[in-house]
Amino acid sequence: MQIPKEEKTYVMIKPDGVRKGLIGEIIRRMEQRDLKIVALEMFQPSREQMDKHYPKDEKWLRRIGERTQATYTKYDHDIKRDFGTADPLRVGKTVRKWLIDYMSSAPLVKMAVQGVHAVDMVRKIVGDTMPYLADMGTIRGDYSADSAISANIEHRAIFNLIHASETPQEARHEIEHWFGKKNIFKYKRFGIDE
Ligand code: AMP
Repeated sequence: MQIPKEEKTYVMIKPDGVRKGLIGEIIRRMEQRDLKIVALEMFQPSREQMDKHYPKDEKWLRRIGERTQATYTKYDHDIKRDFGTADPLRVGKTVRKWLIDYMSSAPLVKMAVQGVHAVDMVRKIVGDTMPYLADMGTIRGDYSADSAISANIEHRAIFNLIHASETPQEARHEIEHWFGKKNIFKYKRFGIDE
């Protein structure tokens, strides 16, 4: 199989990114790194659409629960106080519900982004999932300061401005889910593609 020179990834500007007026800044930072926007739209998803977006498998839910548990251990906080349980699977399910509530509550901007190692490039530009840990110079590091603890006390998802696919397989699934097969554009940029 021939390895393609470029890959595509899926990016969503979350309600906090839209409400902070960061749409232009986020797109600028990606284009600055030679990433090409090949699909773009503002929309407000339904709960059903968001439910199909986030994985449902036990492995994913446990991973979220275990990560949350690790944060609580690190800062010596009581996970049972915020979640009523310490079971990673149940914690993961609760966080997933908060994500769906949040992402379907206001307009988002969705896009497909193409480039060399686009998945890893975009995650580097975006920064760590936890904004308070994200390096300065990344979008989350420069524009947000939220954490799992503050989000969980308020029973909500983390306000981390952007969603970006974690792997090329996840990107393919998400691009097809949000744009279908046909709505991706092809064009050449001056000085980059020719
Ligand atoms: P995203 O795929 O960018 O929409 O973000 C999903 C990720 O955010 C999950 O993998 C979780 O690790 C994390 N996350 C969001 N909200 C919370 C929360 N309240 N507690 C713990 N983790 C969270």
